[in-house]
Amino acid sequence: MATASNPATNGQIDSELDRSGLGGHPRGLTTLFFTEMWERFSYYGMRALLVLYMTTAVAGGGLGLDTKTATGIYGAYTGSVYLMSIPGGWIADNVLGARRSVLWGGIIIALGHYSMAVPSIYTFFPGLVLIVLGTGLLKPNVSAIVGSLYSETDPRRDAGFSIFYMGINLGAFIAPLICSYLGEKIDWHLGFGAAGIGMTLGIIQYIAGRDRLAGIGEAPAFPKEMIKRNAIRGVLFMALSCGAVGFLWFGPEIVQKNKMLILISVIVLFLVWLFTGFLKTEEKKPVAVIVILFLFSIIFWATFEQAGSSFNLFADRFTDRSVPASIQGLLPAWLQSQVQDGFPAGWFQSVNSIFLIALAPVFSWLWMKMGENQPSSPAKFSIGLFFVGVGALVLMLASGAIAGPGSTVSPMWLIGVYLAHTIGELCLSPVGLSTTTKLAPARLSGLMMGVWFLSISFGNFFAGEVAGEFGSKDALISLFGKVATGPVIAAIILLALTPSIRKLMGKVR
Ligand code: GLN
Repeated sequence: MATASNPATNGQIDSELDRSGLGGHPRGLTTLFFTEMWERFSYYGMRALLVLYMTTAVAGGGLGLDTKTATGIYGAYTGSVYLMSIPGGWIADNVLGARRSVLWGGIIIALGHYSMAVPSIYTFFPGLVLIVLGTGLLKPNVSAIVGSLYSETDPRRDAGFSIFYMGINLGAFIAPLICSYLGEKIDWHLGFGAAGIGMTLGIIQYIAGRDRLAGIGEAPAFPKEMIKRNAIRGVLFMALSCGAVGFLWFGPEIVQKNKMLILISVIVLFLVWLFTGFLKTEEKKPVAVIVILFLFSIIFWATFEQAGSSFNLFADRFTDRSVPASIQGLLPAWLQSQVQDGFPAGWFQSVNSIFLIALAPVFSWLWMKMGENQPSSPAKFSIGLFFVGVGALVLMLASGAIAGPGSTVSPMWLIGVYLAHTIGELCLSPVGLSTTTKLAPARLSGLMMGVWFLSISFGNFFAGEVAGEFGSKDALISLFGKVATGPVIAAIILLALTPSIRKLMGKVR
């Protein structure tokens, strides 16, 4: 993973610290905040449309795919986005440097969205691939640059990441409101185009603010020949990763059918190699903890990341989206006519982000207030898993409340689901990231960060697979029942393991 080190900030005394950016943070944070806000705007704006577009009949301007195929493609796409952060981080460290990787990533992402704005199947899939590659270059490296704005001991470091996470969710909140309206109500491709415009604005402000990042995330000072060689390796690394996913999802039928088994075998082989052939004795304990958290993290994301697929379909097909007459009366006339037959299903995609923005400060306050008494990292993970399971359980009950074919349930169900999921996310996501960095032996910090991203990637792959069971009422009860049971059982197992895990963790909590 990229280590965009900035020796300039290390060892500075307090009065020399740059406080001219957002909330007394370094100026560079302001630029990175808006870059990531717009990147996430484009990512979540398009994501809110993707499954609905693929499953809409050709007559309705969609691709007319069945839900199983659509959710499978969706899982392959979202999983690849996170998978690609591993070669993306490598390219930053060995070829481009983090700063230029972010720029190139942004440009490739924007091209991907514009490609999807063209109404043709021939531009649809290449568009998805471009977004996957571009996000791999941008996402891990923009976070790495945030880290390098602060020295290891800078007390503003954690707060800096929290502000950055707000940027992520601000983008993720606004995007579905705009893109889903344009996409669902006017034309799908207009929605995809809007995502591209968002990314373009992000690139413009990144270039305009480049002075604020001077000297940070520079390209490695390797000899030219070596950079060239690394560039070829980096491209091959990305191509191979893409090719592997393509082969599993679209290759021979026997491979397609067994792709989850193959993925699980890959995980097992990787772990065996890690422990028997790679780790030094003193590294085994902390890495074992990271691996345990990695496995539970996959289960969490496999549930959480149903948001854009099965939950989105639930919003579209089974949720009452009518706007009460009293509220309609308050809207301008043009909007009234637009929402007469219900607001866009994708608007529910904003609920997670708005809850996150509201609750993140509450959780920071809570952990601070509890101080030494706050739950340990594995215990927080267990709480996270429990809540993500509860969210799915709510959706199972909501499915049970569907009266019959064609009828819908209250939107409060989905809002409840997203509330539970946001609480889960706040217990698990930031904890996973920081525990990984704290436990990782120094020589393995990049690899271990990659392991964390890999858990999100695999979670997305599995989420897509599970969401393929989406169907009518009975299928939904069974689907969400299973999706609820997995994480709740996992939460109980993890809680039982917590004392032993804490022993392995040593001083880290
Ligand atoms: N919502 C956050 C983001 O997009 C976290 C999502 C994730 O890590 N899966 O960055």
